[in-house]
Amino acid sequence: MGDKRPAELLEAANMERTMKRPFAGIQWKGTDVCMDVHCDCGEEYHVDGDFVYFVKCGHCGRTFYCGSRIELIEMACEQESCVATGEVWAVNEERDQVSRCAE
Ligand SMILES: [Zn+2]
Repeated sequence: MGDKRPAELLEAANMERTMKRPFAGIQWKGTDVCMDVHCDCGEEYHVDGDFVYFVKCGHCGRTFYCGSRIELIEMACEQESCVATGEVWAVNEERDQVSRCAE
């Protein structure tokens, strides 16, 4: 994130909206999470817990917002199982309208 560090949760969440596509946004909803954290100081640690909106590195002492964004990596072929198909939102209708107008 460079020098532009957010001061609070909503500011951090808004920063995610400017990042490159494709991506997905996790709705944390305060539920239990289990994750492996890879800090840019080189430390790696494991976290388990509810309401984990921030993590603090035990090595460098910095605190990080747990972004909702996860990178989506396109597959070369269809997958047989564990695939969720999303519902189309109104946002996509607007996108399709824009591409029709451009034709
Ligand atoms: Zn660290």
